[in-house]
Amino acid sequence: MGNRLLKDFAVLQKVLQLTCDTLLVLDKENICRELILKTSNPVINERAEILGKNFIQLLPFPLSSEIDREIQYVRSTGEVSNANYDLPTDDGMYYFKLIVQRLDEDYVICQYRDITQRSNMKSRLKSALTAQLEVGKVARINLWSINMDSGVISFSGFSNLQQLHVQEPQEITLEKLLSAVHPDDRTRLEKFLFERQSVEKSIEYRLKMGDRPIEYIRATKYSCRTEQGQLIVDGFTQNISDFLKNRNELEMVLSVVYNAPFSIHANHLDGRMVFANKECRMQNKIPIGRDVTNLSVNSVLQNFASQKSWDELIEEINHNNGINRYRCDHSYPEMDIIGSECYSFIVQNGIGQELVWTIRRDISDQIRYEQQLLQSKEAAETSEKLKSAFISNMNHEIRTPLSAIIGFSNIIAETPDPILRKEYGKILSSNSTQLLRLVTDVLEMSEMESGKINLLPENVSLNGILSELSLSFGELKNCASIRFHLATQDAVLNMDRVRIIQLLTNLINNALKFTPPDGLVNVGYELFPNQVRFYVADSGIGIAKEKQQAIFDRFYKVDERYHGSGLGLAICRSIVNQMDGRIWVESTEGEGATFFIEIPIANV
Ligand code: ADP
Repeated sequence: MGNRLLKDFAVLQKVLQLTCDTLLVLDKENICRELILKTSNPVINERAEILGKNFIQLLPFPLSSEIDREIQYVRSTGEVSNANYDLPTDDGMYYFKLIVQRLDEDYVICQYRDITQRSNMKSRLKSALTAQLEVGKVARINLWSINMDSGVISFSGFSNLQQLHVQEPQEITLEKLLSAVHPDDRTRLEKFLFERQSVEKSIEYRLKMGDRPIEYIRATKYSCRTEQGQLIVDGFTQNISDFLKNRNELEMVLSVVYNAPFSIHANHLDGRMVFANKECRMQNKIPIGRDVTNLSVNSVLQNFASQKSWDELIEEINHNNGINRYRCDHSYPEMDIIGSECYSFIVQNGIGQELVWTIRRDISDQIRYEQQLLQSKEAAETSEKLKSAFISNMNHEIRTPLSAIIGFSNIIAETPDPILRKEYGKILSSNSTQLLRLVTDVLEMSEMESGKINLLPENVSLNGILSELSLSFGELKNCASIRFHLATQDAVLNMDRVRIIQLLTNLINNALKFTPPDGLVNVGYELFPNQVRFYVADSGIGIAKEKQQAIFDRFYKVDERYHGSGLGLAICRSIVNQMDGRIWVESTEGEGATFFIEIPIANV
């Protein structure tokens, strides 16, 4: 039945129609004399325009000459030509296979097969493969298959072994791979590759190639398959050296930020916390391990006690193009911080959220230094003022006794009356004493300013000192009475007698100066286990509370009308300080003043 069928010409023609490619029968002139159409393109189409035409002339150059050459070759040799060609047309690119065979002396037969679809698919596959290889190159990934029976690894893509990119799969032995793996990781890697049950899907190992730095590789298995009875494991490896390097760098930066000697915190715009470093936690008493994320700013940071203060900061930042520099006066007593300098700025994080980062630097030392500078400046200004007051005062203080001395020396020479002469002599003497005291004070003060004073301690009787003072002040007339209170039992202490007498003389002179003649001055001492306290108490004009400190400063005088240099008490304070003692006054204005000098016994 079958034999008969295929010998039937009509059936045969039908079978040919069904199974063959497009067929062209060309004569000696390459004119198409017969055809079976299976193709549709601008050259060979359903309209069969090619019939009766020269096939070669319908083709574009240089394809035409290429095919002409092939046909001539077939005619002359009787061999078959089988090749693929590109057919560029106005409609786009067509691809075809052309098999040319000699039919007889006059005709050749051309089998024309359209392979456009297949070629397009092939080129798509090719570009997909190229893209995959390019991605692999950038990501430093390679694909591998290992034949578990032969131990041969075939790989393509980025190669860590040769540092090159392998397009066509290459093969190496497992042995060679293992020799490049860091010795500490070899057994693990072998186990990973060979044990089918191995739970690990991924493994990290180190590659050490010659002098190159160690590279970190992550290998992943994704399938097992059999090929002709052999087990093949497929996977990919990725070079994660860069990734690890970046991670290490990130960890380093994070550690610097965390341990920086500044308070650093990050917040969402609404104030919710994101991050607080160690210093910030210490200042705000946040436990080190406590997760602060999403806690509100005012529940965490002491210097933002209210949400309002945070919102005001955000407003300021927005006002100043995303960055704000400001001083924060919040103090953290436990940390000895009295003020900080802050920078708050907005940074977008990796997922596009705007975060406010704040860096606070402790500037307490700077603030204290500034305060000190201000104090010194004020002190210098005061001292300058006092100095000029002193100079104008001196003018008066020196001229008055000097004029008296000159005046009375002239008068005395011409006064024969002995009583008057005696009277004038007293005036001369008192003015000279006043002048001498002035000069002594000025000289002593300048001496003290230029260096330490020398103390010469000796064994001194305290009652003895008071007796000596009572002798020198005993003769005074026209001034308040003085009472010296000697102790019932005398004490002998080791101290600089001359200086003690100088101190008490100074205080007694002041007391007499500021106490009316009907007043009283009491002088005495009290003995304590560790110190002796002298006192000079008067019933004079007294000193207002707010001036009781200042009177110990150089050149300070409460009332310019009283003569004096304003140096006496400053000199006393210097001497007492040198003795490690203390000098102070207790007074109510108008009711007298009591000056105390306290000197430690051990040091006198
Ligand atoms: P001065 O040479 O001006 O007395 P001081 O340093 O001894 O200089 O005293 C400074 C100022 O202290 C005096 O000018 C006076 O205003 C006040 N002062 C000192 N002692 C007394 C006192 N006993 N009573 C009232 N004021 C006093």
